[in-house]
Amino acid sequence: MKYDYLVIGAGVSGISSALLLARFGFRVALLEQASGPAPLIDGFVRNGVYFEAGFHYAGGLESGGVLDRSLSLLGVAEDLHRVAFDELAYDTIIQPESGLNFSFPQGYDALSLALQKRFPEQRNPITKYLGRVQEVTQNLPYYHPQAAFSPLSLAALHEQSLEQVFAELAISGELRTLLQVHCLLYGTKPSEVPFAIHAGVVDGYYRSASTFKGGGRALVKALVAACERSGVDLFCRHQVSEVELTAAGAFAGLACANGERLQAVNCVSTIHPKAMLALVPDSVFRPVYRRRLNALAETASAEIVFLRCERQRGSALGGEASDSYDFAGRNFFFLPSPGTDLFAPDLPLCERLLYLNFASSGGFTGAHECGITAILPAASEVAAGEAQSRFAYAEGKVQIGEQVRERISGLLPELGAGLKVECVATKKTLQRINLSPTGSLYGVKHMVGQFNPAAKTRLENFFLAGQATTAPGLLGAITSALMAVGEIVGHDKVEALRREVVCDG
Ligand SMILES: Cc1cc2nc3c(=O)[nH]c(=O)nc-3n(C[C@H](O)[C@H](O)[C@H](O)COP(=O)(O)OP(=O)(O)OC[C@H]3O[C@@H](n4cnc5c(N)ncnc54)[C@H](O)[C@@H]3O)c2cc1C
Repeated sequence: MKYDYLVIGAGVSGISSALLLARFGFRVALLEQASGPAPLIDGFVRNGVYFEAGFHYAGGLESGGVLDRSLSLLGVAEDLHRVAFDELAYDTIIQPESGLNFSFPQGYDALSLALQKRFPEQRNPITKYLGRVQEVTQNLPYYHPQAAFSPLSLAALHEQSLEQVFAELAISGELRTLLQVHCLLYGTKPSEVPFAIHAGVVDGYYRSASTFKGGGRALVKALVAACERSGVDLFCRHQVSEVELTAAGAFAGLACANGERLQAVNCVSTIHPKAMLALVPDSVFRPVYRRRLNALAETASAEIVFLRCERQRGSALGGEASDSYDFAGRNFFFLPSPGTDLFAPDLPLCERLLYLNFASSGGFTGAHECGITAILPAASEVAAGEAQSRFAYAEGKVQIGEQVRERISGLLPELGAGLKVECVATKKTLQRINLSPTGSLYGVKHMVGQFNPAAKTRLENFFLAGQATTAPGLLGAITSALMAVGEIVGHDKVEALRREVVCDG
């Protein structure tokens, strides 16, 4: 069978690209090296408890919100049920040494009020900052229903960093600390991240924070069902090993490590750009393009500890003590001591920024136990001489787990003795999962002064999508698919489809 399009990688970007191409009438096959689709966002079950992997919560899932509209476009919104995170405290930021304890409530108005109450002397900067976030997202491609696609405005939006905006608006001290905490969600520092990328992530969360009933796994199930309905062929355990060309140098098909070959006229690669380069004959791209892709900076790495605990009630953290209160559907960010770089990756585990996600009721599989993910950002370079014996590596993971468990027990004594380490992921795990040479959390950075690859490449009929191309996270992955398909069929046609499905539908 000869396809119109082969898509390399069945993550969110790949599945979204395939679904959109199918909507435009193309015959599409998706090739995924893992044993199942979207392994990054599919959670896992251990001893009866569900743990999230590469998806913890999303912004803009409220009805008509940016992610809700994107999922409608993919034809999966109706198969998914939104579970809201805590209305008053979805993200709680705590700095034990300084006593800073602030909870982000959902909705711009509530957030603005909470920030102004806490920082009455910075009312003006708060209003300006929240206004600027909303204003900038108006110009992001495929973000608002009416936002027109313009590559020029996109380039201009990437010139100013988050730090520059803080300086311009005179945002300092604890307010600045709070507003930059969400840099962890895309693994890039305030001095590096373009304000537009930051705004595109936080705008959704400032409006609403939620997950899906059934967590990331439910999203994968819905995406796979949509592929079946759309006639997209999904081939798992198909690791693409080579991009094959015709004698004239045009795209011809893909060879897989299992010996299979698939033919098509066109291709969309959604994998890490450096991994993509390894599949394409050297002669295809100019040396300057190869050097540019190989030099792309990576996001932070992390140590990730998965823990289980009994469900607890009655916490006073981040809000009033209440019998009906529960940690489910909440995140905590425990910050390093004041004066320390928030994202300093080399601090000991007991001092480093610690993000804790309590799977919301959407993610529960056990009635009495909850899966917790603890993420501690780490340097993304793989140091020389890091090779370890299997035993030393396993032993190192046990020690990481125990240190993090002890720290959490001290910070949240409410969790009691029932807190147990289930497993630990390291830089090496991320290297394997994300195919990132440095074990980065979110692959390639979006950074002021860095030109991430565009959807169109020099090899005719060979396009790029994926979190490295457009923006990070679930929304960034879907938007990257819209950008790639826009290059293929014309952005005006994608805009028209969006209007038809999202605005009129
Ligand atoms: C710990 C963690 C927590 C996160 N939490 C959130 C969150 O709460 N909210 C949010 O919005 N985002 C979150 N993210 C980010 C989000 O998961 C990613 O941005 C998104 O899933 C990226 O999708 P993608 O399709 O671009 O990349 P990927 O999911 O990496 O897709 C690429 C796919 O290609 C496959 N592949 C690679 N090479 C080959 C080959 N040669 N042949 C065939 N297949 C190949 C891979 O196996 C993979 O499935 C998190 C990420 C991590 C790591």
